[in-house]
Amino acid sequence: MLKIFLLALLGIAVVISLNHSIKNSNNLPQIKHNISDSTKSKGKNMSDKIIKSDEEWKKELTPEQYKILREKGTERAFTGKYWNNFEYGTYVCAACGTPLFESDTKFESSCGWPSYFEPIDSSRIIYKEDKSYGMTRTEVICAKCGGHLGHVFDDGPPPTGLRYCINSGSMKFIKKEK
Ligand SMILES: [Zn+2]
Repeated sequence: MLKIFLLALLGIAVVISLNHSIKNSNNLPQIKHNISDSTKSKGKNMSDKIIKSDEEWKKELTPEQYKILREKGTERAFTGKYWNNFEYGTYVCAACGTPLFESDTKFESSCGWPSYFEPIDSSRIIYKEDKSYGMTRTEVICAKCGGHLGHVFDDGPPPTGLRYCINSGSMKFIKKEK
């Protein structure tokens, strides 16, 4: 009788620890999971990459754009052109013109940078682990020109739960008529 009781207890312990490890493994990799799914579904390959020298980029971009896109700079919160822009349209890469985000995926976030819950197409974006400033973040890069855009975090709203926190200075807004 005692044996059965002990076995049952062991079973419960195993179930609890399994649940626990499943929950743990779901935390941060969720970002990668959501992203890789959308990449697979579109699956377009970006072979037409734009490669330019620093000198060429310096000529084409404003100093602010260059600092963000080519030197991974970050504009100060609440200072960019678009954090508070809620007009209808498309946000494209300021360096190469690739359409990156639509206004209907932009949401009001208190962080001071334009925030989106998903890109137009995940294959237009490269995700890279960024360990600068003592944090582990996921950097968001334009797949076509290699320009730094911002970071993606897992504290966004539904349906993705993601927050693409993007510098205004790395994008241009193209207004559309509704
Ligand atoms: Zn680009």
